[in-house]
Amino acid sequence: MGSVPVGAGPEGAPETLEKDPETPPPGLSGGAPSGTGGAGGREGAVRDGGGAGEGGVPGRGPSAGKGRIPGDWLYLGFTHAPLAALGPGLRVGVWTRGCGLGCPGCVAPELRTARPEDAVAATELAAWAAGTARERGLRGLTVSGGEPFHRPEALKAFLELCRAGGLDDVLVYSGRRASELVVSFPWVPDLVTALVDGPFELGRPSSRPWKGSEGQTLTVFGKGELARLYAAWEASDERPLQMVAFPDGAVRILGIPKIGAYDSIFGARDGPVPGGG
Ligand code: SF4
Repeated sequence: MGSVPVGAGPEGAPETLEKDPETPPPGLSGGAPSGTGGAGGREGAVRDGGGAGEGGVPGRGPSAGKGRIPGDWLYLGFTHAPLAALGPGLRVGVWTRGCGLGCPGCVAPELRTARPEDAVAATELAAWAAGTARERGLRGLTVSGGEPFHRPEALKAFLELCRAGGLDDVLVYSGRRASELVVSFPWVPDLVTALVDGPFELGRPSSRPWKGSEGQTLTVFGKGELARLYAAWEASDERPLQMVAFPDGAVRILGIPKIGAYDSIFGARDGPVPGGG
């Protein structure tokens, strides 16, 4: 959601989802906390397509987060900072992997499967996000996916640490409904400043620049200055987009392209125009 892989065709019937590991990936369970945080220079560490902090994103895979709190890990798709779309101002962007919602025409099919090698400790991901924000003078964090609530307790831990690290403006894109999320996870209004909720709906594109489907809604939990910031963002017609080349060869548009814009740039394709989930 919120990113479009260039060259990836729209999906038809939902693909078979890879079953999540029932136990933490090797190295993520058991053992005393090692205290070996940090980001770069580790086996499996990768960088995003532009603007990542000096340390890149945290190491992933079997060695990531060794000795961390069992269960406290997310499946990471990619990151980008500064992110100029998907929220007010410049932000730190994190896209998680894993989503079982199965929207027909899913706009982020590559992020639906959760792979053990993409596990990253919430502590390390938060340290990267907060460190990058400090380096770049950012206060905003956007979390999309995939489905960020795929691992809700790890998301909670990640957001708590990000907030403690100075990221006090947190926007989450979820395919689930806000009314359901606040009941299932009562911590959401405390940790999430604003939530764009609802699934991607094929055939219901939105003309609004902050959402891909008309049925999505914005719920603002933040007060005062942040509430005013999001009211202005919701009403704005500005549509910032970033095209980013990633080291793995992927090229992604970060943001929500205008209806029809994708085809005018890359040529018409069979099926719907992706617009962000
Ligand atoms: S919520 Fe997003 S990632 Fe999940 S199936 Fe729907 S469009 Fe795809």
